[in-house]
Amino acid sequence: MSGKGPAGSGPRFDQPLIEAESQPYWDALAEDRLLIKRCDDCGAFHHYPRPFCPECWSDAVDWYEASGRGTVYTYSTVYVNDLPPFPSQVPYVAAVVELEEGPRMMTRLVECTGDDITIGMKVEVAFEPFDDEHKMAVFRPI
Ligand code: ZN
Repeated sequence: MSGKGPAGSGPRFDQPLIEAESQPYWDALAEDRLLIKRCDDCGAFHHYPRPFCPECWSDAVDWYEASGRGTVYTYSTVYVNDLPPFPSQVPYVAAVVELEEGPRMMTRLVECTGDDITIGMKVEVAFEPFDDEHKMAVFRPI
C-alpha cells in the first residue's frame, strides 16, 4: 500500500503498512472476518500478528477467526487531529478493546459517543471501509 491518497491530494495518515505477516489479517477484514493468531503449542492468542508466540516463543502459530466480541478496556474521544484525513472525522472515539479470546486491540468505537461508553461495556466488531480495497475493524455496542 502506498500510504498516499488520490494523486495530488497529499499523504493520508489512516492507512496501515501491510507486510507479509499481516497480509492475511487485512485480506480477512476485506471479507468481514477478524483473524488473530493462536499458538499451537500453548494455546495462547495474540494480536497484532507475529511469527512467534509472545507467551512461549514457539513459532507454531496460526490464524484463528475471532468471535468478534469483546469489552471496552479503555477509550478516549479525539476532538483534534491535524493529520489528513482525520480533521473531517473528529470527534471520534479511539479505544482499546479486549477480545473474548484475550488479546487487546487498538480500534475505534462507532455507533456511540463518549457519553454512552463505560469500561467493560460489551461490543462487537464491525468492518468499515477506509479506501476502495481495505476495511478496518471497528467496534459497536451490542
Ligand atoms: Zn505459545
